[in-house]
Amino acid sequence: MNILVLNCGSSSLKFQLISTSLDQIAQDTERTLAKGHIERIGGAAVMSFSGSGDEVYRSAGPIRDIRAALDAALQWIASDSVKIEGVNDHSDIHAVGHRVVHGGEKFSESVLITDEVLRGIDDCIELAPLHNPANIQGIQAARAIFGRSMPQAAVFDTAFHHKLPERAYIYAIPYQFYRRHKIRRYGFHGTSHRYIAYRYRTKNNIPRENVNIITIHLGNGCSIAAIKNGDPIDTSMGFTPLEGLVMGSRSGDIDPAIIEFICQKEGLSVEQVDSILNKQSGLLGISGLTNDMRELLAESDESGDRRARLAIDIFCYRVRKYIGAYLAALNGADSVVFSGGIGENSARIRSLICSDMDWLGVELDEERNTATIDGREGTISRDGSRFNVSVIPTNEELMIARDTVRLIAAAGQG
Ligand code: ADP
Repeated sequence: MNILVLNCGSSSLKFQLISTSLDQIAQDTERTLAKGHIERIGGAAVMSFSGSGDEVYRSAGPIRDIRAALDAALQWIASDSVKIEGVNDHSDIHAVGHRVVHGGEKFSESVLITDEVLRGIDDCIELAPLHNPANIQGIQAARAIFGRSMPQAAVFDTAFHHKLPERAYIYAIPYQFYRRHKIRRYGFHGTSHRYIAYRYRTKNNIPRENVNIITIHLGNGCSIAAIKNGDPIDTSMGFTPLEGLVMGSRSGDIDPAIIEFICQKEGLSVEQVDSILNKQSGLLGISGLTNDMRELLAESDESGDRRARLAIDIFCYRVRKYIGAYLAALNGADSVVFSGGIGENSARIRSLICSDMDWLGVELDEERNTATIDGREGTISRDGSRFNVSVIPTNEELMIARDTVRLIAAAGQG
């Protein structure tokens, strides 16, 4: 089956077309046939598409909304100039899998989309006001284009963390806020942490219940999860993706009293401070330069900029602190696994995070570390190191495509 995987944001659409089936899942032989992203939807959009070859097609032009973006992506998939094996037009796409950010307490796993499921995703809008509306628009656009009979699945970013124990998800605020408003830790990046844990166990040929690791996703958003016997027992993002590690433009953990204090001192509203914590903090806020780690590393090397260095130092220190906390929560672990744009590509950041961890027995093999970039997978600790550190490039799209195929098969719609 050819599954179209969609990740719709407030002004962007990312897609992958993946060929998969139950047999291909069993043999791990799925193929990505095409992928692309459209940014700045709602204005002069920028589009970039690629097929299975190296060629990248770029174009720009006005794109009104997500529906128009999906039309543009499908036109490209069906165009004569692009040859995608086995795909000539829409009818060669058999199902759609959507990344949905928030499933609240309702969705503990991926589901086929029905009207009731759509209402459930809609109910979660107050928990993810920026993300769930875009996800719903993506589902509706696909319904309008492919028709209601086309199977569509929702794969939730929160679902993997659904089994967190109460002690990890209840905040120490009056309990009625949990009862009344469902204020609790939900955790995000769940599909990525799930993929990393899955890949770790298949690569090392160990049963799911023996997976005791710490998974670290470092991208624009960053999160870390403690996985015990195959399930997460804690994770750093919380009620929203703002909590936890330092991110590109998000603060991560801060003393909540700071919000009131800034409001008073700067004459700002709570909404303004919330926006500052999400969009102007993290690496960007500390450095005053950029939210992009690659640029920050270049800046710190070229000009020795003090605040660029400080931002990198705080970023790495926060990750190290969480590793220590999760090792305590897990009563030890077998491996720390890096992923995400920074975790997969920056040997330097991995090395800084793992420095001064001799107490744990972490010894990186710097040759392996520097070689394990650009989508490569592997162990980066030394053979004799008491503690394993490795890199697994994430693949959320593959998990979404697989869940979609499995749900269709289970429902007898295949
Ligand atoms: P998203 O969370 O939006 O999916 P990514 O996972 O692609 O983002 O991560 C983007 C981050 O990865 C950016 O901060 C970028 O600078 C960083 N990054 C990508 N390649 C490198 C590299 N070679 N060295 C350092 N950072 C990198």
